[in-house]
Amino acid sequence: MKYSEYFIPTQKDTPSEAEIISHKLMIRAGMIKQSSAGIYSWLPLGLRVLKKIENIVREEQDKAGAIELLMPTIQSADLWIKSGRYKDYGKEMLRIKDRSGREMLYGPTNEELITDIFQSHISSYKDLPKNLFHIQWKFRDEVRPRFGVMRGREFLMKDNYSFDLDEDSAKISYNNMFSAYIKTFLRMGLTPISLRAETGPIGGNLSHEFQILASTGESTLYYDKELETLNPNTIDPEKLQSFYAAVDDQHDEKNCPIEKENIKISKGIEVGHIFYFGIKYSEKLNAYVQNKDGKNLPVHMGSYGIGISRLVGAIIEAYHDDKGIKWPLSVAPFTLSIINLMPEDKNCSDTAESFYNKFLEQEIDVILDDRICSIGKKLSDNELIGVPIQLIIGKRDLNEGVVELKNRLNNSSKKISLDSAINNILSETKI
Ligand code: ATP
Ligand code: MG
Repeated sequence: MKYSEYFIPTQKDTPSEAEIISHKLMIRAGMIKQSSAGIYSWLPLGLRVLKKIENIVREEQDKAGAIELLMPTIQSADLWIKSGRYKDYGKEMLRIKDRSGREMLYGPTNEELITDIFQSHISSYKDLPKNLFHIQWKFRDEVRPRFGVMRGREFLMKDNYSFDLDEDSAKISYNNMFSAYIKTFLRMGLTPISLRAETGPIGGNLSHEFQILASTGESTLYYDKELETLNPNTIDPEKLQSFYAAVDDQHDEKNCPIEKENIKISKGIEVGHIFYFGIKYSEKLNAYVQNKDGKNLPVHMGSYGIGISRLVGAIIEAYHDDKGIKWPLSVAPFTLSIINLMPEDKNCSDTAESFYNKFLEQEIDVILDDRICSIGKKLSDNELIGVPIQLIIGKRDLNEGVVELKNRLNNSSKKISLDSAINNILSETKI
C-alpha cells in the first residue's frame, strides 16, 4: 500500500465528542467516522484492524472445533415470541415492520435462530456435540451509547452456541470455549482475566466474563497475580476458574480467600462473556435429541460472545502513549511502515521503493509513506496510527549507508546498515 494513494484521514485536533482515549485516537487516526449515535463507518485503517481481530477470533474458534455459519442480521419476531424474549428484551431491541406489517427485529443476539436451525436438522445424540459460530453485526439500542466502538449500538460480535446431550458434556464444551477465549486474547497481546459472572437476561447457572487489563478500563479488578502469567500452551480451564478474581463491588477484603500479597488490583474492560444455560431455549423452541435409549431430551446449550469491534477500542486502551496508538504486531493494520522522508530525492525514493517491493515479496503488511509533506507530519502521523515497525529513510543517513529502524511498541530506535535492514526487520516482525 502506498500512503499517498491510500485513505487515512488523520486529524490533529482532539474531537470534542470523544471522552476516552481510544475513541479520541480512533477518530484522530482516521479509523472510524460516526454516522449516528453509536453507529460508525469503518474507514480503511479501522477496517484492517477489525479484520485482523476477526481472523484471530475465527482461527481460534476453528482450532477449538467450532463450525462457522452465518445467520442474518434481520430476524422475524416469531421465534422470539416463542422464547418469551420478545417482551423481555425491552427497548434495547430494535423492532421493525416490513411492508406487509410483519414484525421483524435487528438481532441483538442469536440464541433463538440457532436453536431453530439446530432443531430443524439434528435429532440424535449421534450428531452431538455441535458447536456453531458466526461473526455478525448486532444491534442493541443501548440507553447510552458511548466510548466510541466500545459501547456502540451497532457492533460486531462473534457468538457461538454449543449443543450437548447432558450437563456433563455441556461443561466440557464450556471449558473448551473458556480455553479458546484465553488463547484468543493472549494472541492479541492482551492479558485476559476471567471472572465468575451473573447470568443476567440470558439466564442459566454458569457464566464467566473476560476482562482485559488496561489502565484506563472502567472496572476495577482484584485477582490472583497468577492470572497474569498464563501460557497459551498449557491452559487448564478448571484450574484457571479456581483462581480468585472479582470486580470491586464483589470484592470484600475481609473475606477474601487469598493472601493480600498475592492480589493484584488493575483496571479492566469486558471483551467476552460465556454462559451455560442448560435447556432454557431448547425446551421452548423444541430442540430435542434422542439419547441411546431412544428417549427424547431437550438439548443442553451454552452461548459465547466476543465483542470484536469493542476489542479494537480495548486494545488501544491497553496500547497507546501520548503520541498515539502502539499496535501489538498481531492486530496492527500494517506491520511495517517505510517512511521516506524525502520523496523528491531520487536516491531516497529508489531505496524506499526497493525495500517496499522486497517486503511485499515477503508478504509483510507494509505501507510505503511516500507522501510529499513535512517530515514532522510524516513522523507524527506514523506515531499516531501506530505501525509497530518503522523504517525511516533519510538523505543524510543514506549517504552514510544507514537507515533508521524504529520500534513503536517500546519507542526504541537504532541506525542499521542498508545490508542488514531486511533481516533485522524480518526478525522483528515475527509474531
Ligand atoms: P455489557 O455488560 O457490556 O453490556 P453484555 O453482557 O450485554 O455486555 P453480551 O451480551 O455477553 O454482553 O455480549 C458479548 C460481548 O459483546 C461483550 O462481552 C462485549 O464485548 C460485546 N458487546 C456487548 N454489548 C456491546 C456494545 N453495545 N458495543 C460493543 N460491544 C458490545
Ligand atoms: Mg449489554
